[in-house]
Amino acid sequence: MKTVPEFFGSCVFDDSTMRARLPKETYKAMLRTIKDGRSLDINVANVVANAMKDWAVELGATHYTHWFQPMTGVTAEKHDSFISPDGDGRVIMEFSGKELVQGEPDASSFPSGGLRATFEARGYTAWDPTSYAFVKDGVLCIPTAFCSYSGDALDKKTPLLRSMEAINRQAMRVLKLFGSDVTSVKTTVGPEQEYFLVDKEAYDKRPDLIYTGRMLFGSRSPKGQELDDHYFGAIKPRVAAFMKELNEELWKLGVCAKTEHNEVAPAQHELAPIFTTTNIAADHNQLAMELMQKIAKKHGMVCLLHEKPFAGVNGSGKHNNWSMTTNTGVNLLNPGETPYENAQFLLFLAAVIKAVDEYQDLLRVSVASAGNDHRLGANEAPPAIISIFLGDELTAILEALESDTAYSAREKTLMRVGVHVLPKFPRDTTDRNRTSPFAFTGNKFEFRMLGSSASVSDCNTVLNTIVAESLSQFADVLEQAEDFEAALHDLIVKTIREHKRIIFNGNGYDEAWTAEAERRGLLNLKTTPDAIPCLLAEKNMALFCKHKVFSERELHARYEILLESYSKVINIEALTMVDMVNRDILPALCAYGERLGKAVAGKTAAADVKCVYEIKTLEKISAYTDVIYEGVQLLEDAISSVKGISDSLAAAKAFESDVIPKMQSLRATVDSAECITASEFWPYPTYGDLLFGVR
Ligand code: ADP
Ligand code: MG
Repeated sequence: MKTVPEFFGSCVFDDSTMRARLPKETYKAMLRTIKDGRSLDINVANVVANAMKDWAVELGATHYTHWFQPMTGVTAEKHDSFISPDGDGRVIMEFSGKELVQGEPDASSFPSGGLRATFEARGYTAWDPTSYAFVKDGVLCIPTAFCSYSGDALDKKTPLLRSMEAINRQAMRVLKLFGSDVTSVKTTVGPEQEYFLVDKEAYDKRPDLIYTGRMLFGSRSPKGQELDDHYFGAIKPRVAAFMKELNEELWKLGVCAKTEHNEVAPAQHELAPIFTTTNIAADHNQLAMELMQKIAKKHGMVCLLHEKPFAGVNGSGKHNNWSMTTNTGVNLLNPGETPYENAQFLLFLAAVIKAVDEYQDLLRVSVASAGNDHRLGANEAPPAIISIFLGDELTAILEALESDTAYSAREKTLMRVGVHVLPKFPRDTTDRNRTSPFAFTGNKFEFRMLGSSASVSDCNTVLNTIVAESLSQFADVLEQAEDFEAALHDLIVKTIREHKRIIFNGNGYDEAWTAEAERRGLLNLKTTPDAIPCLLAEKNMALFCKHKVFSERELHARYEILLESYSKVINIEALTMVDMVNRDILPALCAYGERLGKAVAGKTAAADVKCVYEIKTLEKISAYTDVIYEGVQLLEDAISSVKGISDSLAAAKAFESDVIPKMQSLRATVDSAECITASEFWPYPTYGDLLFGVR
């Protein structure tokens, strides 16, 4: 059996494979392309493509695909075979540089937000050579960006790459002022991924899980997560077998899956990889989500990536650990040891604080989805209000700087940026305050508002761009400064003074925080329809256009897509509820009522008995049946009245204010009815079957 180091990355056309398989000059040209973003000469591309094909064929590949991330948020691939007729009735395996570098999937059915009508549907995919090609299921996958012929981004990767370019540009300006000789800055991401594993047999009997990924009905099981006996608990054999296979498959694909453990809720688990460059981390997270779902099926389970599959039980999120690293390997959010390093750290820290305060709305938009609305603000996930946790020690240092006072009683001298060494402060671990949506954890920030099914591309596009903007403003000031050290000190102090309202180290779940946040003027955008319009706010359009991350056209398109997808999700959920009620739930209640009625008739004819249970239950069941019947009519009416609304924001708002409340009240009655219906009459597996069904 091969050891992990032997098979790690074995399905990836990575640096060592390229070095071994490409002629020296071609390899060097590839490196220049990867490191400096130079475009690849077609002759070089031909050599690379041929070597890539030979390598992939040895691994059993017969097809290739341009692998991309359309705005649906999941990955897309269209397979083409390497086969080419040789003229003698035989075939050879071929793959050209042109096919490697650019593709033309028809792909006209992906959402484009009006960026292209289907009659001019041609979009093209372009290779992202900074993310290595890999072989998956007999297909050579080439990570690509997806654009329209007019250059509009049609995917999630293009803006992410543009935002990385933007932050690189601005961070380099700032680093130059510190006399640094680094040549590039990249952001890094390590996403921690939560998910549920449920038994496939039970899952297959629930239309709501199949169509929507969450249980639209279901009364709580007697036991939930209250004992906390699942968290970090022993992993069940079936789950362990799944995790082993998942890890091995991810390792073959060069994904550094590192930790795995049981999460708080029953049946909930987490996977964390070691961080890497942001666009690669985004690709890897997509691969991880795809493989989780595929491998779970092989083990008789289904992997749920929905943010809230089970009301009343913890939902699933994703923690986006983020930092900035130079090509020399310096983490710019690491406090460092010398006054010089500390000053640089404080400036980058200040850039993030300013960015998050000024663009709270965009960060909120970047995690907005129908599924995530169930989590944000509920008592298990960070609130919908954005704030930054810095920990008491770092906050005290910033306060001392701001007020020109000594940091602690023991310090005799005041602290000057660039002159004094920062007092040592213990690293705040993530677990110190899990209620903060945006926490500094020693040498990186952890953005915790993402839903489990989200693409990390969205929030990192925003993070990179807003921090690029802070850095750009800082560079504007510092480039003009006569006394760099004094200007630096003043700039940091001014930034803290102007943006300290965003810093909050307390309990984000506390009711009092909502009021306090309002007093501080922080935004509280509770739902997706509340948040999305911020995308088109003037300041945000100006930001994205300035840094060439999105054009106005692209922003309008994304606004439409986000709202439409919200409305579509709620619409599918509502229709699924109607279907389940009409076809399964009402008939089941009717049958059970009839059974009770017959029992009463039979028993009272045979003996002088009261049948209290049968009669009372029959009365309740009949009452619930009537309420449910009425509720489903109201829901159907609400669905049809939204159909007539053509404006996407108005439609989304109508789903939120008219349809969702009717879904909630219908569910409440159905769940009450479930609690008194004999198990054999209830048409679906229960919470217990789903949450405790994997043994
Ligand atoms: P924990 O949250 O359990 O304390 P860590 O802090 O070590 O664990 O890491 C959590 C996640 O953050 C991991 O995916 C890790 O790779 C990632 N991470 C660590 N350092 C960085 C960094 N500089 N940039 C981005 N992600 C990072
Ligand atoms: Mg964490």
